[in-house]
Amino acid sequence: MEGKGLIFNVQRFSIHDGPGIRTAVFFKGCPLRCPWCSNPESQEARIEMTWDRKKCISCGTCLNACGRDAIHMVEQKLIVFDSKRCNACMMCKEVCPTGAISFEGYYRTAHEIMEIVMKDEPFYAESGGGITLTGGEVLAQPVFAGELLTLAKSKGIHTAMETTCYGPKDKFIGLLRNLDLLLCDIKHWNSDKHEAFTGVPLGLIQDNIRAAANYPTLQVIGRVPVIPGFNYTPHDAARLSETILQLGISKVHLLRYHSFGEGKYELLGRKYEMDGTSQIHRDDPLFEEYSDIFRKSGLEVS
Ligand code: SF4
Ligand code: SF4
Repeated sequence: MEGKGLIFNVQRFSIHDGPGIRTAVFFKGCPLRCPWCSNPESQEARIEMTWDRKKCISCGTCLNACGRDAIHMVEQKLIVFDSKRCNACMMCKEVCPTGAISFEGYYRTAHEIMEIVMKDEPFYAESGGGITLTGGEVLAQPVFAGELLTLAKSKGIHTAMETTCYGPKDKFIGLLRNLDLLLCDIKHWNSDKHEAFTGVPLGLIQDNIRAAANYPTLQVIGRVPVIPGFNYTPHDAARLSETILQLGISKVHLLRYHSFGEGKYELLGRKYEMDGTSQIHRDDPLFEEYSDIFRKSGLEVS
């Protein structure tokens, strides 16, 4: 029987995840914990509940419906969920009269996903688009990712993958044969700092990127999330440029920090650790200087 992958979204007509018009498949589950993540619902490898306190009228119906004692009311108001007890039966969502409870994540087979992807085949042909696997971390579900890429290639669809490159090397290399474009995160040049902010060191990531850069049929583009307090100084720009060139990559996307995902943290009952960090605007003089350092190093920047 065909296995299922855990995803949290299939986004049609995406124009930010590779060339042309694309369908982006968002995998759920990631071994890194970047505090600036704009998709916090992508991080846990399980179906997760969200609770909108603005919609909740504290009626208590969900408490009575839960057979696992996973919901608690504090001071007659705040609903607290215990994720360890919850088995995602979704009974609480069924009974909530205001729609305050929702769930992130669902299981699908690769064939089910491809049915959605193929609906837009004419647009891919016209625009040079295709399918992009993103997340979350694609490499955390390598079998499912491999099935999707194989199916897409068998139908002649352009394939892209956005990844942290943190995953077993053999599994990573195995995915490349059905991949046209790799969009790989390059978050920092210093392994200690990378580990302090994301939870993992750089060694495996850089090994995988080097292997991808040497893979003959594959286009590789680096993606640098530009984050104040983490890597947003001219010194970081110079060291990152050096690192990227050494990895064998000639093109980068610089992704300016924004806080659009902040509201999702509250819905998930989590604290947004980047609170108070300024967003980077396109015309920020430091960002212009920062980008110029990449360009002057010989990298193509967009
Ligand atoms: S999903 Fe089920 S187990 Fe989880 S809190 Fe709701 S009712 Fe309880
Ligand atoms: S059922 Fe819905 S509105 Fe009522 S307490 Fe639970 S979350 Fe709030």
